[in-house]
Formats: sequence, structure tokens, C-alpha cells
Amino acid sequence: MQELTRTLSLSDCLNHTFSCSCGHTHRAELEAVYIGKGTLKELPKWLEKKGYIKAYIICDPITKEIAGDQTKKELEEKGIDVQMHVITHQAYDEATMGEIVIHKDHTRNVVIGVGTGSINDMCRYFSYQLNLPYCIVATAAPMDGFASGISALTVDNLKTTFNAQPPQLIIGDTEILKGAPYSMISAGLGDLIGKFTCLCDWKLSKLIQDEYYCEVIVDMVGDCAKGVLKNADSVKTRDPKVLGNIMEGLVFTGVAMSMVGNSRPASGCEHHISHYWETIFEQQGRRPAPHGHQVGVGTILILKLTESLRNLSTIDFDSARKAAEAYEFDAWCQEIRDAYGPAAEGVIEMERKAKKNETSGRLQRIGAMEKHWKEICDLLEELPSSQTVIDLMKELQAPYHPSQIGVDKELLKNTLMYCKEIRARYTILQMLWDLNLLEQLTDQLIQDF
Ligand SMILES: [Zn+2]
Ligand SMILES: [Zn+2]
Repeated sequence: MQELTRTLSLSDCLNHTFSCSCGHTHRAELEAVYIGKGTLKELPKWLEKKGYIKAYIICDPITKEIAGDQTKKELEEKGIDVQMHVITHQAYDEATMGEIVIHKDHTRNVVIGVGTGSINDMCRYFSYQLNLPYCIVATAAPMDGFASGISALTVDNLKTTFNAQPPQLIIGDTEILKGAPYSMISAGLGDLIGKFTCLCDWKLSKLIQDEYYCEVIVDMVGDCAKGVLKNADSVKTRDPKVLGNIMEGLVFTGVAMSMVGNSRPASGCEHHISHYWETIFEQQGRRPAPHGHQVGVGTILILKLTESLRNLSTIDFDSARKAAEAYEFDAWCQEIRDAYGPAAEGVIEMERKAKKNETSGRLQRIGAMEKHWKEICDLLEELPSSQTVIDLMKELQAPYHPSQIGVDKELLKNTLMYCKEIRARYTILQMLWDLNLLEQLTDQLIQDF
């Protein structure tokens, strides 16, 4: 078995099992990724090598125009037998799933999705149920779910997650990606920018409560995000190289999740913000902004909070201890019912098991923070400044302020105070709550921003 001791490129990670200095064995399930100019040409070669010569291409009317017809042509020219189905139903629900089952002729031995988010979710699940290998030709890279093994589908009118399979092959041809709508490009960038805060959450958790942590994987994902941020200006001009880097970073975080076995490398407090908005918007029957835009705004909010924390002259650990002693579960439940409405009981149930807010654990963490405060400040200092990210989002005409994505001051307050309860995961927001500073810094942020 190979040892994982330094950061590797995406392609070096694939299809390998590594023993790692973190003590775990990591396995990247994805077989191949081709990102770059003209990489669609790699698809027929790869299919041929694998013996997948009866392809079933699934696209919708839009992705057919962007890349579906071209994919079909490339494959047919290389002698691969193609059946293409263009989805007619609008929603990604049972009817659409039925449609792609009914139209498939039974001789097909590989599924090829052409599209992004929803088509990929649909095809990952469909190919998993039929036990067929699956490849995706990306038409845009608006989020990091490409290599995921889980599919979100609408069933009984409710968005539900199902076990599925990751693709064996991902094609990110930058000649195709550069034609993606601008908002999808900036959304992908927003999701990637969120890796700064999510990796910081993981580092803090390691330091404060000794959570399992893999430095090599943190460095790999962090390097991707830093590389993209450095060249982000060129996103404006749709520079294919930068678009390829964004796609690679997004695929990489998916691979990193599968190597670690949980979503720590991809999702932290900035994602909890987005999950909370989605929950509340769904209750109100409103359509939330694209995932990557929500994550981008969430990241800016977290960066602003950490900047205010660093600006405080002293941290009153004794007052934090008093707050921990005064915590009452029943009073907390009432706050959750006010903030989460019909979704509250699930959140309360999770806290009953996780007990992340209980006094004894909190006191221990406060002690650890007091001991490691200098190191914590150093970690926070590594984050990009909120102004850097705001300037970038402005330049890309992407949202940077909650009000631009339908979040008013009241919702913003509940978001920052309670979104951490949506998952049992230690984050910057839990740290601020532990320190009894979350409300003070939230109020200050709402006043100034
Ligand atoms: Zn995301
Ligand atoms: Zn490791």
C-alpha cells in the first residue's frame, strides 16, 4: 500500500488506497477525471478501454444543446453505439426517473449524464439501481457534489437523499465549461471559497476537542482553494484554465470527503448557514439562491465574525464559564422552536444525542481555548479577509450581502445564533457560542453590515 505523506494532485489520488500519517487508510473511489481543454475526446477512449460500448446518454433540452449532441457525435465517430434520451419532465422526481427507465433499451451497458447538479443526482441514483457504470460530462461546475455517493431527489414532493454511486469518470472539458451561465461559475467559486472556513473549523476542533484530523487532506483541499483565490480575477474573462481549476477544486473536495469518510473537508459553519436558509425558505415556500451563492455569503459572514473576535482586546473566559453554568436545556429548546418552526423537533432530538451544548463539555472546551488561545488566533489569522472575498464577489456580480439573497436582519440574527444546531459538528460558531460572544458579535455585525 502506498503511503500518503505529502499533498498529491487530484489524478494521483484516484483509484488508490493510501496508508496515511493521520493513522487512517484512505481510498479514493473515483477512477478517472479529465479536466482541461478538449477532454471530451478522452471519453470514447476510456469507454473503449473499459469495454463499455453501448452507451445511454441522458441530458435535458438545454444540456443537449451545450454538450449532449457533441458527446453523442464524439462517441459515434469512435464506433460506440449510442442511445440518447432527452428528459421531457421538468422536475427531478419519480416521473423523470420513470421516464429514463422506460426509454432505456435493455442492451445499454454504461450510463452517461450530460449536465450538472440535478442530472448528475438523477443519473447517479438511476445507474446505481440498475447496477451500471456511470460517467458525467459536466456542463458547469456550480458546486462540489460531482463525486458524491448520495443523490438528492424529489420524492413525494419532498427533497430526499438516497444512497447512490459516484461516477467512475468525470469529464470537465473547459471548452464546454466556459459556456456555462455566469451565475453558475460564480456559484462554483462561492462553494470553493467556503473551504477556507470549513477547514478552519476542522483545525479548531482538533485543537480544542481533539477530533480526528488529517493534515494531508486539509492541505490538499486548502491548496486548491488558495490557488483558485489567487487567480480568481481571471474568472471574469472565463479563462479556461481558471474554470478548470475551480472544477478541479470542487471535484477534489468530493474526493477528499470519500477519502475521509465524512464531509469535514467540504462543509463547515458556512454550509450550516446555507442549510438553515434552505430549511426556512422551504417552510416559507420561497426559492433559495443557488447553493454556491449562499455558501459564498455565509463565508463572508463568518469571516466578519472572526475579524470582530480578533479585534476584541481581551477574552473573558470566566464570563464564558458562568454562561456555561447557567445553560438550561428547556430554555434552549424554546429558542430552537422559535428559530426552526416545524423543523425544531428534529434539531432538538439531535442535541439530545449529541449533547454539544451541555455544561461539562463546554467547560472543558473553554479550558482548552484558554490554554491554546494564541494558536487559535494564529489559525484565524490564516483566513482570507472578508473584504477580499467581498471585492471578488462584487467583481463577479455575485451576491456578497445577505439582503441580496432574500435574507433580512431578523432572519440573519436567527441564522448566526442557531444554524450551528443543524449538525452536531464543532465550528467557529460553536466556539463563539462557547465563549458567550455569539450574540454580541452577531448584533455588532448586523448593525455594521
Ligand atoms: Zn457546498
Ligand atoms: Zn490522512
